[in-house]
Amino acid sequence: MAAVKSQNTKPEVYVRRMLHAAGFRYRLHAKALPGKPDIVLARYKTVVLVQGCFWHGHNCKPNSMPQNNRSYWSAKIERNISRDRRNRVALEQAGWNVVDIWECEIERSTTSLIERLQNMRTAQDTAA
Ligand SMILES: [Zn+2]
Repeated sequence: MAAVKSQNTKPEVYVRRMLHAAGFRYRLHAKALPGKPDIVLARYKTVVLVQGCFWHGHNCKPNSMPQNNRSYWSAKIERNISRDRRNRVALEQAGWNVVDIWECEIERSTTSLIERLQNMRTAQDTAA
C-alpha cells in the first residue's frame, strides 16, 4: 500500500487489453493533461480514468477503512477525491470526455465504454 496510485495496475491493464482487442489505439499517462490520465483516446477526445475503489473513495466500499490510523487514511482518500474532482473539471473544460471506470464494475464499464467508442468510430467513418 505504498503508492497512492501506482501505474500499470491490473484493472488498468484489463481496460487496455479490451480496448486494444476492439481496435482502439491510445496513449498512456499523457503528461500534458491534468492528472496524467491513465488512458487517452485522442481521436475520440476521451480520457479514461481507471479508479481503485479504496483509494478514490468509491461508495461501494464504505466499510473497507483499515481499523488502525483511520484518520490518516480518510484524510489521504479525501485528498485523492478532491484532486480527482479538480482534474476532471480541468479536463472537461479542455473539451475532453471523461470516463471513470471503477475497479468494482470494471467489466460492465469497459463494455459500455467500448460500445460508446464504437458508436463514435462509426459516426466518424460515416462523416469521412
Ligand atoms: Zn467500487
